[in-house]
Amino acid sequence: MASAFETNLATAERLLTRFRDRPLGHFIDGREVPGQSERLFDNLSPIDGGIINRVHAGNAADVDAAATAAQRAFPAWAALPGTERKRILHRVADGILARAEEIAVLESLDSGQPIRFMSKAAERAAENFRFFADRAPDAANGLSLPARDHLNFTVRQALGPVAVITPWNTPFMLSTWKIAPALAAGCTVVHKPAEWSPLTAMLLAEIMAEAGVPAGVANLVNGLGEEAGKLLTEHPAIKAVAFVGESTTGSHIMAQGAPTLKRVHFELGGKNPVVVFDDADLDRALDAVVFMIYSLNGQRCTSSSRLLVQSGIHDAFVERLAERVARIRVGHPLDPSTEVGPLVHERHLNKVLSYCDIAREDGATVKVGGVRAGEPGGNYVRPTLFTGANNRMRIAQEEIFGPVLTAIPFNDEAEAVAVANDVAYGLAGYVWTRDVSRANRVALKLDAGMVWINSENNRHLPTPFGGMKASGIGRDGGDYSFDFYMETKNICVALDTHTVPKLGA
Ligand code: NAD
Repeated sequence: MASAFETNLATAERLLTRFRDRPLGHFIDGREVPGQSERLFDNLSPIDGGIINRVHAGNAADVDAAATAAQRAFPAWAALPGTERKRILHRVADGILARAEEIAVLESLDSGQPIRFMSKAAERAAENFRFFADRAPDAANGLSLPARDHLNFTVRQALGPVAVITPWNTPFMLSTWKIAPALAAGCTVVHKPAEWSPLTAMLLAEIMAEAGVPAGVANLVNGLGEEAGKLLTEHPAIKAVAFVGESTTGSHIMAQGAPTLKRVHFELGGKNPVVVFDDADLDRALDAVVFMIYSLNGQRCTSSSRLLVQSGIHDAFVERLAERVARIRVGHPLDPSTEVGPLVHERHLNKVLSYCDIAREDGATVKVGGVRAGEPGGNYVRPTLFTGANNRMRIAQEEIFGPVLTAIPFNDEAEAVAVANDVAYGLAGYVWTRDVSRANRVALKLDAGMVWINSENNRHLPTPFGGMKASGIGRDGGDYSFDFYMETKNICVALDTHTVPKLGA
């Protein structure tokens, strides 16, 4: 009998046929279309560096066609009763689940993320659609703010066509996290997925169309960031940009969108601390420390890439950690036993490996890993642990975005907080201690949009997700998403009891 790995490989071969037959196009106004220029780019395999498929590089005409379609479709979609949008978006969730295997296998192949994690991509994406579908009927609700002579009430209305620009680390799930609330709010969308992992965005576009999302409501333009992405952020029909990616790209997008006054929502980079105090449940803390940096290839915005350990337990904890890191299984992303797969692109692999030299130059120790692994041509790297580091080193300050952890000792609570906050980023923080007062004191002092106490990262969809400082602007989740994709309007009604000022009377 074929193993699960062999079955996945056979499924992959079958699913790739359509992408090999013809270059991947865009999805505009309800159908897949080729690019308006002849220009293509190669989508490379993280597994062996070969060409997976070729993709149309969207140009100004493609972006304009998508933005115009979104603009045309907006009034009718926004005017549709929320209950109807709810019905359609639940059908999108059904469609995602029906194609769960296809999504998981293509996502793994394209991004290098292990199938053990990507097998849940469809489930999480469907949950995103269901969560916001259920809220669509109430999205326009506002507040009642009565004054003495007037009644005020607020209503919300959809903003208009919006751009959704996503990265390559968990592309399918992340795009649904943005597109679902936008559609639930009544906005129309133009999605520009990352050029290093474009496959599953087309599946989502197809699923949405099959589920009854009307033509023009959800469009997709493939292409390069500096070209298609930039043009989208400059297009006058686009009212807002929901962006997930690097902090420097966020700065570019803000500048690009300035002439047309784009509203922006940014989920950017991180250098998140996990702080382990000496009274913590060290077994659970160890599991979480390993999981949060070495799952998803370390290509995860909320990964805890800096381990701050109290000095009394530092050496013993780091020894146990090193043993675990050395045992992590690196392998083909479609092999269910693989824990860390190949990094998405050779350029990214080289960036990650360059930090091993930087670590040594700065005086840190490469305690585990720091070398390539697997077959030549594949972007495999051994899970890596840096020790003997301090927070001034580049390995403690810069986002590496790979399976690489920097361990730093601290003496007391005040030092832990100071070190944790001494970075440009402020996305997430993790605190491990059994002292509930200390846990709360530290959580309140951390400059981070999200803090987990005695836990790894987990998502509860109503809670706010986002970062401080260079990690982002705005929050996703629950009603926070609707605040971004909608305008709040105040309506003031006089009770005819106040004096209207008279001029020229
Ligand atoms: P990136 O910024 O290079 O690219 C992200 C997207 O932006 C891609 O689609 C790209 O084509 C596009 N783009 C690039 N230049 C552009 C421009 N000038 N105008 C418009 N679009 C442009 O990021 P990446 O390397 O794909 O992803 C990794 C980064 O994403 C990491 O920094 C990571 O921390 C971050 N990330 C953050 C979160 C979060 O929630 N905070 C989640 C996932 C990833």
